[in-house]
Amino acid sequence: MTSYESLDATGLRNAIRKGERSVRQTILEVFERIDALDPALHVFLNTQRTAALKRAGELDQRLAAGEAPGALCGVPVALKANMCLAGVETNCGSQILAGYRPPYTATFVQRLLDEGAIVVGMTNMDEFAMGSSSENSAFGETRNPWDPSRAPGGSSSGSAVAVAAGIVPLALGSDTGGSVRQPAALCGIYGFKPTYGRISRYGLVAFGSSLDQVSPFARSVRDVELAMCVLSGADENDATCFDEPALRPEEPDDPKSLAGIRVGVPKEYFPEVLAGGVRERCEAALQRMSDLGAEIVDVRLPHTEYAIPTYYVVATAEDSSNLARYAGVRYGIRAGSEGSLQAMFARTREKGFGAEVKRRILLGTYVLSAGYYDAWYGRALKVRALLRRDFEQAFEKVDVVVGPTSPTPAFKLGEKSGDPVAMYLCDILTTPVSLAGIPGLSVPVGFVEEGGKKLPVGMQIAGPWKGDARVLRVARAYESATEYAKAAPPMAALLPPRNPAATKSGSTSETSTRGGRA
Ligand code: GLN
Repeated sequence: MTSYESLDATGLRNAIRKGERSVRQTILEVFERIDALDPALHVFLNTQRTAALKRAGELDQRLAAGEAPGALCGVPVALKANMCLAGVETNCGSQILAGYRPPYTATFVQRLLDEGAIVVGMTNMDEFAMGSSSENSAFGETRNPWDPSRAPGGSSSGSAVAVAAGIVPLALGSDTGGSVRQPAALCGIYGFKPTYGRISRYGLVAFGSSLDQVSPFARSVRDVELAMCVLSGADENDATCFDEPALRPEEPDDPKSLAGIRVGVPKEYFPEVLAGGVRERCEAALQRMSDLGAEIVDVRLPHTEYAIPTYYVVATAEDSSNLARYAGVRYGIRAGSEGSLQAMFARTREKGFGAEVKRRILLGTYVLSAGYYDAWYGRALKVRALLRRDFEQAFEKVDVVVGPTSPTPAFKLGEKSGDPVAMYLCDILTTPVSLAGIPGLSVPVGFVEEGGKKLPVGMQIAGPWKGDARVLRVARAYESATEYAKAAPPMAALLPPRNPAATKSGSTSETSTRGGRA
């Protein structure tokens, strides 16, 4: 039987459908891995062992009865802790929502469940999805499986690591300014932010409502496509969700060829600040795309340098409004009831929110306040329109635009946590895509070596508005010519030894391939 960690979601589902493995056995393996790895990596804020095993038993029974299993039958999934699953704690990595159990299930979560997926737990994240390293979580940081002294990226940190460490083949994050693409890059997996409006946000806790998109992590492009087919499509509970059927993947005659595809390379995406190795890995990937038949074209995105300031005005404005609801009345904790209502609101917010969330509420309130609105928020909206126009003009000439996802590979925990602006600069190459509302996929393109450790590098493939299927089709061709997404982090040092022989051979910092314990 093929080992659990070596299977992507599609492979796992196929094996389950064929009866090569049971759902129950699969879920037991997931929890064995969680027990072994979570103490070192801190992926989950809670796990759903009992419920998952119960559901596994039900699915096995249905399979035995010959029922048609769903597209994700028996596939274990992890959800970022800002996603609603009725009755399961969704605390957004924040003290203010500690213990909060939503009374309803998000549309996209329900769609996973309807197709037979099994939720195994809720993953750690930067508080309210604000951050790039997991260090803003009120519950401690998540570690990068490639080097546990480094950040996994954020804010969807736990979901990225759950996939990268082979705990689950599929996990969901949310991407507002890069929170799925950047951790995907730093962990060596795929992370796809679809076109804004492709997936319903009903049941995703709001951060920046004009930017937030539910976004899958996976270890193969076909799994991203599978997830998109399940998650996307109209939802009457979200007015910003396209009134369209689910995404249909492109089926080119030769899926391994990029003949006829024009790949745009903006020089703005290769700035001086790129860390050594990142540029080289991306250039090698472009060469590979050219070898596959793509035409490489220079394009310009002249307003790129304004993306970070624009994003941090728009996103903070929206989060200061969205987070007004956490005041000790309807949700989460209440810090004492004495004194006036105002005093109770203030006490609750002072106690419940962490420093970064408070900073952003202050900033957002400021840019929206009378007298400053035109100078900040109003102007940011105008620059946002210019950023969108940059892309529209580029996509008149090319099918996709590529560049590094993150200017650096995984950085050390603690390296940026004292400097909010340094942390914001992680988003320099992902926020333009977010502001334009277009799709972007981070693709593993190789490794750099730092301090004796291999660290993954990711490249973003962005497409025009609603061009999701094209982005995925380009990635699939590139994937067919590379092995990077198949590499698994060196987990030997993290896993407890299975037998004395394993201890004797010692831990190795070599990359292992998925399929065996290192
Ligand atoms: N790092 C960005 C921020 O802190 C992105 C967040 C996100 O996409 N949720 O806002």
